[in-house]
Amino acid sequence: MHEFDLIARLKPLLPSNDFVVAGAGDDCAVLDLGDLGHHTLLKTDAVVEGIHFTRDADPERVGHKAIARCLSDVAAMAGQPIAAVVTLALPPGHDAGWCEALYRGLCRTAARHQVAIVGGETTTNPDRVLVNVAMVGRVPRGRAIRRSGARIGDALFVSGELGGSIAGRHLEFEPRLAEARWLASSVDVHAMIDVSDGLAGDLRHLLAASGGLGAEIRAVSLPISRTARERERTGDLAKPALLAALTDGEDFELLFAVAPSDAVRVLDGWKTMFPEVRLSCIGRITADPAVILCANTGIKPMPRGGYEHFHGTP
Ligand SMILES: [Mg+2]
Repeated sequence: MHEFDLIARLKPLLPSNDFVVAGAGDDCAVLDLGDLGHHTLLKTDAVVEGIHFTRDADPERVGHKAIARCLSDVAAMAGQPIAAVVTLALPPGHDAGWCEALYRGLCRTAARHQVAIVGGETTTNPDRVLVNVAMVGRVPRGRAIRRSGARIGDALFVSGELGGSIAGRHLEFEPRLAEARWLASSVDVHAMIDVSDGLAGDLRHLLAASGGLGAEIRAVSLPISRTARERERTGDLAKPALLAALTDGEDFELLFAVAPSDAVRVLDGWKTMFPEVRLSCIGRITADPAVILCANTGIKPMPRGGYEHFHGTP
């Protein structure tokens, strides 16, 4: 069963209560715990050996990734991360030095973002390492940026570069916390999500959450990473660079929608604040629920995911 089908089946079973502002279905849950100035964000995420990292990966970088994934989700709500707990599931007899290195990477990234590690759990798992991080953050009350607020005509932006992260960036990415909080304080961001499953997939999540809107994406505006281009050129990559940018996962960049009248202000301000991080306006939100890719060779439907073939080169 596909991950999202499973989530759809489980979601109706979830109990709620008066503290819940937003439950499952966004980058973080939003809770009202009575803090008059803030809402609380809650997130959990796991990395599994053989899925999110290989056995020979540098454990410090695995630790970084394990916590940075949660940080990226807090960023996607324009939040401030505060504290985390870590669950480590290890095969029997696993090397203690490896775990120490994992924690060094994890704690270094946590400290860099002023996140406290306040506990955890260690357990066994037959043949693979699993690292779970659960995180609490906060956001000014009522100011969490949801996936659901995109409006027809909005300009769509994406930070950084997309595609080919499997070559190494998936272990090294920097969560866009400062960028997201700057955005939230400078402009009315209608909707935001972090790109973890690939732009094509995460854009669809944002559009579905926003009431079934569509989008037009300009192929020429997509920030295709140099890695994806090089891997296409040298034949290392099974798919063209454009398809990699649309469907590769684990970019952990921000995808967001703002009113078209704010687009220039966002671009100019971003360039001043974060000159080292690219920001691209990649298209716009449409009333027509289709998601289409506009290239100079014509218009085609956006590919759905990494396993689908994309016919022709746009
Ligand atoms: Mg996310």
